[in-house]
Amino acid sequence: MIKTTKRIIFANAVLLSTIIIAIAAATAAAAPVGQNEIRVHYIDVGQGDAILIQSAQNAVLIDGGDAKAQQALLDYLRSAGIKDLDFVIATHPHADHISGLPKVVRQFGVKSVVMPDAAHTSATFEKLIAAIEKKGLRITVPKAGDAFSAGIIKFTVLAPGKKFKDLNNMSVVVRMVHGETSFLFTGDAEDKSENQMLKSRRPLRSDVLKVGHHGSRTSTTEDFLDAVSPSVAVISCGKDNTYNHPNKETLLKLGRPERNVTLFRTDKDGTVVITTDGQKITLPAKRNGKE
Ligand SMILES: [Zn+2]
Repeated sequence: MIKTTKRIIFANAVLLSTIIIAIAAATAAAAPVGQNEIRVHYIDVGQGDAILIQSAQNAVLIDGGDAKAQQALLDYLRSAGIKDLDFVIATHPHADHISGLPKVVRQFGVKSVVMPDAAHTSATFEKLIAAIEKKGLRITVPKAGDAFSAGIIKFTVLAPGKKFKDLNNMSVVVRMVHGETSFLFTGDAEDKSENQMLKSRRPLRSDVLKVGHHGSRTSTTEDFLDAVSPSVAVISCGKDNTYNHPNKETLLKLGRPERNVTLFRTDKDGTVVITTDGQKITLPAKRNGKE
């Protein structure tokens, strides 16, 4: 009996500290960002990733989408009022993550580029390196455990924790904490990197999870999902893509009632804009293609 009471008190305490998730009436991607707010845009770039993180003073871009989405990405950044980017993070050198970045580097005021220690022989990768060099930018190769920030946008690096042969597992994974709220950006990290992150014992728990590798079967292990324990998950993938992303098993894992995860998919929801003021996370109203 005493045990039960204790558990209830504990549950209440957890509830009190749990973030409040509000649903916004409309997605106002172009509206000014409030002083203590961070707005995270999971931009619909078809089959690929491009995530803009924006505060009133600073902005960070994680990945630059596929070749087909280049213009859409540039237009989106401009419509969000972006002129300068404090960091451009190229999670790993695959085309669906870096194709838009050469033009971003050329056309925007980029201060710093973050990339893993992983090269690729593709023309797209070479173009990106050429654009970075032409602008005289330094490439920062982060290590797991590093921290970096642009104003109130603060990251810790969780991966890669070691050198992996596979480029997906070389993805730079960062966790952003703002007040009581947290976001995890996983690139295309797969089970091997997820296991490495679990082994590192660095905090993984995050309110919002960018699901690894477009919801592929090779990412999002149960153990990793347990550790992250998200309330919200976002899958970035293209409509009717040939990879069958997201994988059914991944959707089942995320959809278990006990996980209580609100899922967004860029193929169904388009660009997903989530805002945090450090206390409360505001989600867009439109969910999974339903109006
Ligand atoms: Zn990818």
